[in-house]
Amino acid sequence: MRNYTKHYINGEWVESTGSETEDVINPAAEEVTGRISMGTQEDLDRAVQAARDAFPSFSTTTKEYRAELLENIAKEYENRKDDLIEVITEELGSPVSMTEKVHYNMGLQHFKETAKQLRDFEFTERRGETLIAKEPIGVSGLITPWNFPTNQTSTKLAGALAAGSTVVLKPAELTPYAAILLAEIFEKAGVPKGVFNLVNGSGETIGNGISSHPGIDLVSFTGSGAVGQKVSENAAKTIKKVALELGGKSPLVILDDADVEKAAKTAVSNVVMNTGQVCTAATRTLVPRSMHEAFIEAVKEVLPKFRVGDPKDENNVVGPLVAQKQWDRVQGYIEKGMEEGATLVAGGTGKPEGLEEGYYVKPTVFTDVRNDMVIAQEEIFGPVMSIITYDDIDEAIEIANDTVYGLAGYVFGEDEEKLKKVAASLQAGRITVNNAKADFSAPFGGYKESGVGREWGDYGIEEYLEVKAILGMPS
Ligand code: NAD
Repeated sequence: MRNYTKHYINGEWVESTGSETEDVINPAAEEVTGRISMGTQEDLDRAVQAARDAFPSFSTTTKEYRAELLENIAKEYENRKDDLIEVITEELGSPVSMTEKVHYNMGLQHFKETAKQLRDFEFTERRGETLIAKEPIGVSGLITPWNFPTNQTSTKLAGALAAGSTVVLKPAELTPYAAILLAEIFEKAGVPKGVFNLVNGSGETIGNGISSHPGIDLVSFTGSGAVGQKVSENAAKTIKKVALELGGKSPLVILDDADVEKAAKTAVSNVVMNTGQVCTAATRTLVPRSMHEAFIEAVKEVLPKFRVGDPKDENNVVGPLVAQKQWDRVQGYIEKGMEEGATLVAGGTGKPEGLEEGYYVKPTVFTDVRNDMVIAQEEIFGPVMSIITYDDIDEAIEIANDTVYGLAGYVFGEDEEKLKKVAASLQAGRITVNNAKADFSAPFGGYKESGVGREWGDYGIEEYLEVKAILGMPS
């Protein structure tokens, strides 16, 4: 049993001032694996005060010092590789191979890439007699979700520390272990006391506490749209800068010259990755009408190859959902799709055969989906694909953009003019052409209701800066 009942405040592991704890559940076994403290307002106040006290000194360190600090964190993070993989597999139910390739690696790359970008980052610019200076904003409050326990925390922490901001982090209650390891990593890497503070707890107390706190200058939130709105409302009262990374309902546009088998594999892997609990998942698959039948056959062929089961088994690529609540939610959407008249191609309600224990779902594919159906408009956060047919590329673009979201978009095919046209026309912050590999220097964030602001690399550093113009500054 993991007994993580302390918070990390001002460089020390301290007892909570309250007595409430919450169990952490392994979603593959439906078993309690440990517990965390549910922090109090008093815990949060102490953390904010520590971050405020550390700010004057940390904010005036050189960028070389902070780049080295991030590099030390990256080294220490690598030293804790096995531990990180173990806890993320356990708390999230992510298959071990995926935990290493995606979760572990993304966290690492954010520290490395941000350190690299920081070394070249210009904090001042001269325009004649005017000096433009970019200065750390102050204390940042970071609130993160459960679906990518190291990616979301690391991108925010790397950006904030690179800028010279001090932080208070509240990770998700469902997956708190990875953040506790990060605190240990930061301590070992020599992050000065008070620069990084971790308070576990509920959204109600610590989440609302952060977004309303007069001692916090910026709140960076990743999570659902409904909570993002609440964060903005609270933050407005003290005019905090707000960065929001919210949900998505991203389209994958398959062109009519695409290789149908490769297109099906791309579509399926994108939807089942992390058991569909991915904000950028391409859950609306737009297929040319002429390719529809062949595409369905190819999807049926490829889907069983993505094995569902025990996350500790290296051969499995799809684990359980994170919690019973998510399982119920995904079942509700699958039922809704059937009620709405979409045609079930694969999967459906209930658990996969032989996987009665654990929050497993059947990877599910619907076709004959209209874009105005609930399953095509709302974020399901499970491995559920909606296939929508189109007749020409303009119609595909119109359907793709007919959503309140704008986080990501994908296009797959051969014709370069069409690839460019679709990529340029999709209203979203991150477009991927033909399975392009990850780029940690590229900005990440959403259009429309998918969010405000950008993370990753130098754009992620900008998020934590204020801009000062000094007119008549002697050189
Ligand atoms: P959530 O909004 O329920 O919770 C996110 C975090 O907010 C948690 O730490 C939670 O405790 C906290 N929280 C809850 N109530 C709060 C409140 N009133 N004030 C402040 N904080 C509060 O989201 P979730 O279920 O953990 O994550 C899933 C959602 O996150 C999905 O919608 C997904 O698309 C989104 N997401 C977005 C991105 C992105 O980068 N755009 C990345 C991952 C996940």
